[in-house]
Amino acid sequence: MGGHGFNEANLPFAQRPIVILGAGVIGCATARQLLQAGFSVKLVAEFLPGDQNINYASAWAGAAWHAAGGINPDQRYIQAITHRILLQMAKNPESGVSLVDAREYLEQKPAPDSAIWGRTVVSKFREMDQSEYSEEFHTAWAYETLVIDPTRHMPYLRDEIIRLGGQFVRQRVLSLQEVFDIFPESRILINASGLGSKTLTDVMDPNCFPERGQNVFLRTDQCHTMYFRNGQEYTYVIPRPLSGGVVLGGVKQQDDLSPDVDLDIVKDEIARAHRLAPEIVPEHPSEAAISHIIGIRSSRRGGYRLDAEKRGDQTILSAYGFGGGGYSFSYGIADTLVKMVENSEREGVIPAL
Ligand SMILES: Cc1cc2nc3c(=O)[nH]c(=O)nc-3n(C[C@H](O)[C@H](O)[C@H](O)COP(=O)(O)OP(=O)(O)OC[C@H]3O[C@@H](n4cnc5c(N)ncnc54)[C@H](O)[C@@H]3O)c2cc1C
Repeated sequence: MGGHGFNEANLPFAQRPIVILGAGVIGCATARQLLQAGFSVKLVAEFLPGDQNINYASAWAGAAWHAAGGINPDQRYIQAITHRILLQMAKNPESGVSLVDAREYLEQKPAPDSAIWGRTVVSKFREMDQSEYSEEFHTAWAYETLVIDPTRHMPYLRDEIIRLGGQFVRQRVLSLQEVFDIFPESRILINASGLGSKTLTDVMDPNCFPERGQNVFLRTDQCHTMYFRNGQEYTYVIPRPLSGGVVLGGVKQQDDLSPDVDLDIVKDEIARAHRLAPEIVPEHPSEAAISHIIGIRSSRRGGYRLDAEKRGDQTILSAYGFGGGGYSFSYGIADTLVKMVENSEREGVIPAL
């Protein structure tokens, strides 16, 4: 028996554990769905749910489900699947997922590939009447959307994974091969390492880059509506009803890794959020009512990676580079990965003649 309790030589292919490198929302959502499908799952990661390292993006997200603009039909459907699963989760407050009202204001006429496609997914979508919004905007939409409180959702996912029989191993690795070395009986590995893929020696993806985010958390009991401003003055107010506050954002600072609070950003975000939602965000909130959120997004030029490759008898499924949208894509990505795992498992169980 090996260190993790497996008899490598005797384990039938169909019972070999699926290993996941990374325990952010992508790795954990995938683990949960694989476990629900009956697979044995091991997660290897430096940071685990509940951790608060700046480089662990999943701890710091807003996080709202928001239909992304500029994405292809397959990616839209992945977001739609995510919405379906989050909507189900919202029935259980322990999941940290809540259904809220949303108001989205567009500075410009929506482009054909804008977020408008989301109207086929969200409830209560309507174009707002011009009398309902400032004339600086071209268009405004009202709808219901889902917000995820990562301070609750990540621990919830951890508990779900453990309850379903998954196992976490806290370890920093230098390569994907090192993960196979920990679980030599495994043949299928999911690389959900986010920004880690920039430096893992057998990945070294040159398109990955860090994008710093810094948000203000404002304590308030008026936390049931999301506000979103699309355009030059990109701004959001994301409610966290279960934590009694709203998240004001946002900024994206490429290649900036600073863990220090930038007070100019704080002032600017409060001013922008006040203009967007004056009924919730005061012009000068008290020091006691605010705290700061800083996290590094794992972004990728060309968009996220989701594909399968064979290396000898090993299969590597890549799922990283979600930038500012990892929560909006999470459960749809997990759903797709389950199908990809089944395809490669089939090749191992039923080899081609
Ligand atoms: C301020 C802010 C606001 C955001 N708002 C939103 C939002 O409103 N909506 C939305 O959808 N998204 C939002 N995001 C984006 C979202 O947080 C990310 O897209 C998502 O968390 C990425 O998840 P992930 O699992 O890919 O990566 P991560 O959460 O970064 O997890 C990576 C995992 O891989 C592990 N790992 C990496 N390298 C190694 C290694 N060498 N060895 C061992 N382990 C390794 C890490 O330890 C970690 O467990 C926001 C992000 C920030 C920072």
